[in-house]
Amino acid sequence: MQIAERVQWLQAHTPLGELSADVLEAIASQIEVEPVAENRRLVLEDTPPTALYILKSGRLERYRTIPDRLASAVSLLPGSVLHLKQLLLERPAEETVMTLSDCEIWTVPAAAFAALVVQYPEISQTVSRQMAAELDQMAAQLTFEQERQTALRPYLMPKVQRGIIGSSRYATRLRQDMRKAAGDRRSVLVFGEPGLNKDNAAALIHFGSRDRKQPLIKLNCETLQPNGADLFGRAGGKVGLLDWLGSGTLLLNNIQDFPKALKPQLIRLLETGDYGPASREGEPEATLHHSDARIIMTSEKVLPELDRKNRVGHLIKVPPLRVRKADIAAQTTYYINLYCKSRGLTRPTIAPEALRRLQGYDFPGNLAELESLVGRALIQSNGASVLTEEVFWAVGSKARRFRLNLLNTYPRLRQFLRSPWWPDRINYGLTLWAFPLVVALLLFGPQSRDRNIALNLFWAWWWPLILIAFPFVGRSWCAVCPFMIYGEVTQKLSLKLFPRQLLPWSRPEAEKWGGWFLFGLFVLILLWEELWNLEDTAYLSGCLLLLITAGAMIFSALFERRLWCRYLCPIGGMNGMFAKLSMIELRAQQGICSASCTTYQCYKGGSQKGEGMETGGCPVYSHPAQLQDNRDCVLCMTCLKACPHRSVELNLRPPGSELWTTHTATVYEVCLLFLLFGAVFLHRLPEISAVLGMPSRLQPAGLQNVWNHSAVSVLVLLVPAAIALLAHRLVKLQSRSTKPKPFVELAYGYLPLVLGGNLAHFLRMGLTEAGRVVPVSLATFGYSGVGMPVAIAHPAVVAFLQAVTLIATAALSIFLTQKIARQPFGKLLPQHLATVAIASLMWQVIVGF
Ligand code: SF4
Ligand code: SF4
Ligand code: SF4
Repeated sequence: MQIAERVQWLQAHTPLGELSADVLEAIASQIEVEPVAENRRLVLEDTPPTALYILKSGRLERYRTIPDRLASAVSLLPGSVLHLKQLLLERPAEETVMTLSDCEIWTVPAAAFAALVVQYPEISQTVSRQMAAELDQMAAQLTFEQERQTALRPYLMPKVQRGIIGSSRYATRLRQDMRKAAGDRRSVLVFGEPGLNKDNAAALIHFGSRDRKQPLIKLNCETLQPNGADLFGRAGGKVGLLDWLGSGTLLLNNIQDFPKALKPQLIRLLETGDYGPASREGEPEATLHHSDARIIMTSEKVLPELDRKNRVGHLIKVPPLRVRKADIAAQTTYYINLYCKSRGLTRPTIAPEALRRLQGYDFPGNLAELESLVGRALIQSNGASVLTEEVFWAVGSKARRFRLNLLNTYPRLRQFLRSPWWPDRINYGLTLWAFPLVVALLLFGPQSRDRNIALNLFWAWWWPLILIAFPFVGRSWCAVCPFMIYGEVTQKLSLKLFPRQLLPWSRPEAEKWGGWFLFGLFVLILLWEELWNLEDTAYLSGCLLLLITAGAMIFSALFERRLWCRYLCPIGGMNGMFAKLSMIELRAQQGICSASCTTYQCYKGGSQKGEGMETGGCPVYSHPAQLQDNRDCVLCMTCLKACPHRSVELNLRPPGSELWTTHTATVYEVCLLFLLFGAVFLHRLPEISAVLGMPSRLQPAGLQNVWNHSAVSVLVLLVPAAIALLAHRLVKLQSRSTKPKPFVELAYGYLPLVLGGNLAHFLRMGLTEAGRVVPVSLATFGYSGVGMPVAIAHPAVVAFLQAVTLIATAALSIFLTQKIARQPFGKLLPQHLATVAIASLMWQVIVGF
């Protein structure tokens, strides 16, 4: 290449182009052309440069080695001039230079260049000028950067706190969504409930993206100036954060609080990247600025205006902690580590029960609540090596407060309930054989209660005892009930003899009609009992037992599991209703079920898994984790046996607490409640008839008598319902401003008195006849029981206990009504007075005679 061509090239492509042609000619004349192969080191940092290098073609890379860090390399293209300043200032090379490809390098040896500098002072002057200009530029950049940092500093999020913890499918999905959002620069809306660290998720997206070196600023939208000057700047004045931010990321936290007047600005920014600085009133709208910033927003839900026209590139939902229970263990461990690390403490472990307790809680405050809970537990544990259940005392939903799991407190109880004894050995070893004997005695033995032990057992033992048992052990009778054992036997035998698929339950139909069916049966049974004096007619009592057994057998032969018990049995309906008052409940911990279980064998049944035994699943198709009502559980403990995760609990609780927490009222059950209320009066019809001057107990001597008797019975049955309805009318009348709860809900307030009234009625029989068991047993088999020991309460004692029962249950009814209604006492006064009135009437007919 000729000198002239070299000069031309130097002028066109290098920073030396500023020098005069003479000087360039002199430099060009000294140039030595040197081809250098790829991957060769040209210069070593910190050594004196040996020549001025001008890259004619090919690519170079320069870098400086910094201990313990990756070198940051800069690629150099043709036209780059190396060591101009170093040769002039006689300083060593600052960086190592390598060839990235085969290169042609023009070199001017150091000595030759030094001679040129002496000969042409223009070289020094030009380089000094260039250096001064560079310095000015750097100073300007520095000033800008300082101002930028000052403006952005209060909003900067310098680093991300933590990643998404856990391996549940929700956590995995969230991570995927965030990774996807980090892959481009489209706007993002991260939404979810409070306490989910959504700003942290937004920061994760920023720091996971290629913009991670750019600043990330967070603005809480509720603190924005109404005219948006802090964000958008002011026309002709203050620079806004968006201007300072450049191509960084803007995190608008709680976008739902963004000033309404500025929403069009926000939408324009999202759609086009343009925004207008705030201008004063009367001033024309300012020229639009363009922002290269990436926008990430957080909110509790998707705002409709953002969900339109693809205004937001990525919508990311952060799932609440209650659906990610599988992550609670990892999240808790993380918080424990974090807390202990920051305070230099030894890390404790967490007890499985404590973890189960955490998993059983719904965390309305989400991660923030869990974090503070862990912090509190660590303080309370006082350096213990294991965090136990007690230190997480605040955890517990309202419906699960004040519960004591009897299975943990009494491991032997757990052992017994999981053993074959409960209820199979009781059922198949005793009840199955005793029941036919009882029925046979009723059908073929002496017919009066004082001579038939089976009749005595049924009326004087079973009735008072089962009524007393309800508040203590709820519906436990249904676990050992003979009717159903025969149902089960029928089902098993018939399947063996005639293998077939049993009919599935039609739940909606059963829910709709089952309750009315059992109510109807109960009405008929009560009328039958009254009209035909079942209490003192053994064969009819036997028929009643056979009737219910037949129902259980027929429905068990047709349908799978225990449809009869769940929906149709009249005794089951009564048991289920009174079981609501019980002080025990069987429930499973939802947290464990959703976090650890995939088999649901408590419900479905299945083979042995871990400590879960092989069972056929819940016989009444209830899932213990979803139980809200004792009515739906017959306490058979199948689920306790089947569960491999120790999720099932048998809790001691405030009696009847479901009635003011999780309960759902049903009309048929309220009708059943008033039917049993009325039954107390019906049982005392002879006494009532005597007061009203009617003939005493009417026997079905003639049709006319039966009709009269039936009509009177129905009227008597309706008395409590009529009083309660009237009282509710008055409650409604006097609470015009605040709507009272519906009658079907408030009616459950009477439940303790219904139980108390029935118990008071049967107490007399129990206390005066149950103690005659020895002579009556002998009389059953034709022996004289005269002189045999008897235990009979004095009438005064009976009356006292009946009175106490009525007073106590009436008071409990008033208390329960208050709990259910959650209204001032005065507003419910009519219902309370109705309770007192019905209790007084019962007193009259039960105690007063
Ligand atoms: S619902 Fe009826 S048949 Fe079933 S177990 Fe209870 S009392 Fe027995
Ligand atoms: S088997 Fe146990 S853990 Fe699984 S759903 Fe049933 S109660 Fe819950
Ligand atoms: S929930 Fe459990 S105890 Fe209750 S009926 Fe079902 S299997 Fe039996």
